[in-house]
Amino acid sequence: MATRLLHIEYNVGRTGAVTPVAHLEPVLLAGTVVKRASVHNANFIADMDLRLGDTVYIEKGGEIIPKITSVEFSKRPLDSQPIIYPHECPVCGTPLVRQEGEAAHYCPNERGCPPQIKARLEHFIQRRAMNIEGLGERTIEQLYEQGLVRTVADLYKLSYEQIFALEGFKELSTQNLLAGIDQSRQAPFEQVLFGLGIRYVGRTVADKLARHFRSIDGLAAASLEELVAVPEIGERIAQSVRDYFSNPEHCQLIEELRLAGLQLESTVADTPLESAALEGKSFVVSGVFSQWGRDEIKEVIARHGGKVVSAISAKLDYLLAGDKMGPAKRQKAEALGVPILSEDEFMRLIGKEA
Ligand SMILES: [Zn+2]
Repeated sequence: MATRLLHIEYNVGRTGAVTPVAHLEPVLLAGTVVKRASVHNANFIADMDLRLGDTVYIEKGGEIIPKITSVEFSKRPLDSQPIIYPHECPVCGTPLVRQEGEAAHYCPNERGCPPQIKARLEHFIQRRAMNIEGLGERTIEQLYEQGLVRTVADLYKLSYEQIFALEGFKELSTQNLLAGIDQSRQAPFEQVLFGLGIRYVGRTVADKLARHFRSIDGLAAASLEELVAVPEIGERIAQSVRDYFSNPEHCQLIEELRLAGLQLESTVADTPLESAALEGKSFVVSGVFSQWGRDEIKEVIARHGGKVVSAISAKLDYLLAGDKMGPAKRQKAEALGVPILSEDEFMRLIGKEA
């Protein structure tokens, strides 16, 4: 389906990522009127050589918003304008930055950029996070506009008078909101952790981190290596967690949340160990295994009291070698005198017959 590209709008999300969205001449596509399409990032726009006024082809993929698949160059108007990707945040004017290896531009003004601040608050209050009843997008907007709330910790400092003075609030709704905020102090640690909005830490990851590190202090103190050793936590998440806690403003925020009485320790009981066969032993896991996926085998090691680390060193107890392990790892382990275990030998170690 072909239509015309009218202009590009730049949205700023919770993490500061800028998302360009194409506005189109409305066109009927698969039974719905389409007015907008995804154009992903600056690279996409440049690679497509998109220009305002171009006739473009759109397609509905799996996403709600369709995408632009190609440009009809033969119909390009003579006076078409190239798209100049903004150098500054369209909302707060801060120069945008681009992280190495990432296609998106970011507004780095985490503390002062209104859409980022509001989106963080909305993320925090959602059902899967703090689940604050009586608080929605519109109230967040009002609290922000009135200058009452800038960080999630500010929510816990709101007074009856401040809320009551907001448009649309009466006695009962004010009491309900205060009660909702108060109730959220009991939200379990994993929900608080998710609510903080650390990049790449979704609800499932938050659950795993909370269960493993038990408290915000434990997580904040974890090294990159300790983070990567948690099943299903990769380097990207680990680095993001490290970055988060190395920012003094975030540490300050956590102290404020602590003072506000939020749950910063896990109350979920640890899964009991299956055995202590691997107690105190460290493992590097490499290659492919017949019985388990990579993450599963890490969990098996943990359930038997062992610990998975990422790097081979002289202190390492075992290199657990599956199929297709790289030769460099084997050589390094051999050079350092680290025992190399096959999957069968590992099975015997945990008392299971291969
Ligand atoms: Zn901004």
